[in-house]
Amino acid sequence: MRSAVVRYAAIILAALPFAGTQAQVTAIRAGRLLDPERGVVTPNQIILVENGRFTQIGAAGSLAIPAGAEVIDLSSLTVMPGLVDAHNHLALTYKDEPESNVYYYTYVADPTPLRAIQAVSNGMQMLSSGFTIIRDMGNNGNYADAALRVAIEQGWVPGPTIINSGIIIGGMGGQFWPTPEMAKDHNIVYPEYLDADTPAEIVKAVRQNALFGATVIKICVDCKPWGYSVDEIKLFISEAAKVGFKVEGHVQTRDGARRAIDAGIWSIAHDNGLDEEMHRGMAAKGIFRAGTETPISLTGHTNPDRYARTVAKLKNAYELKVPLTFSTDADYYVPGKTRGEVAIEFIETWKAAGIPPADIIRAMTVTGYKVSETLDKRGLIKTGLAADLIAVEGNPLERIDALRSVKFVMRNGMVFKRDGVMTPEKFFHGGPVNGWRIR
Ligand SMILES: [Zn+2]
Repeated sequence: MRSAVVRYAAIILAALPFAGTQAQVTAIRAGRLLDPERGVVTPNQIILVENGRFTQIGAAGSLAIPAGAEVIDLSSLTVMPGLVDAHNHLALTYKDEPESNVYYYTYVADPTPLRAIQAVSNGMQMLSSGFTIIRDMGNNGNYADAALRVAIEQGWVPGPTIINSGIIIGGMGGQFWPTPEMAKDHNIVYPEYLDADTPAEIVKAVRQNALFGATVIKICVDCKPWGYSVDEIKLFISEAAKVGFKVEGHVQTRDGARRAIDAGIWSIAHDNGLDEEMHRGMAAKGIFRAGTETPISLTGHTNPDRYARTVAKLKNAYELKVPLTFSTDADYYVPGKTRGEVAIEFIETWKAAGIPPADIIRAMTVTGYKVSETLDKRGLIKTGLAADLIAVEGNPLERIDALRSVKFVMRNGMVFKRDGVMTPEKFFHGGPVNGWRIR
């Protein structure tokens, strides 16, 4: 055991960062640097990183690499900002075996601690495929999503930035149709859904999620025929605003979509209730669309008719300039694929909708940072922002499938993946190195 004097000395030294020492500078040589806002690549750029942030970005000829810098050579790759999946469920993994892909069974069979561990693994798999931000929108047991976010932020494990909803709030029953004995005697709907059927219950449910570690609110607008009224959705929005949260609505009907749009919700998940009229309303109000467009290549998770509608709706939303996010709802196991490989497969639907690569990339980056509200903190490769970036082979502006070959990932200035191999050792710690107060 160390003496108190030694311990206090260590605390004092820790409070004086970099006294007499120079922070390590990392210099990245980018063969091409992709700017998703302008939809262009610039050759031969140097990116300097210090203390986990971008400090300088410039052309190789004009920006000198400081002496002593660690140089990372990505001169054969395209460097670009990290990707965003605006709708996933990292602590849910339903499967063919044993539950025939019915998540009602998954949540009975998989306890929250196991799901939290799955979430850590799924988070690393997503990060390896270039997703540096995930909006995790419920169905996570008893706050496994909050445990994941806190574990990553405190510095225990590597993973993407997590924007998490806690428990999905819905009218009685949530998305389930339980028997009276299971619902009333065994409370089976909880913790997958939080019942809120009155204004007082709505307020309390939002506060419960805020208390237990959510950072956004997710509601079931119309999971039951009665659903939430415009005024009830507005109550969610105003109560969430007190803690600085936005509200996403799970919407599956046109009436539900209309009420969510009238109420001025932040984002709408799923395309079932969306058509041209709804898209016009969303575009006028700047409501984000998280359409969760399952590709036909993920056999068993959509069908040809459903897929044709999905593609047509996405095309319509694109033409009407709805703020489009890239969102997957990829909460299942596809044998042979990582969670990240399943998520990136969704570019197939965007290709089928005829959306140009530059606009697919905007949805996956800039609009993703906007819906996640990280734009002033992380996302773009800009001086002062957190140093998150990825690098791929080829030029994704010419061939969007280049995003399938993520060779390099940096998170908060630390290398997570290099030469196509995860190298996460620096991210693991025996304690909360970023502070236990992060909740
Ligand atoms: Zn979902």
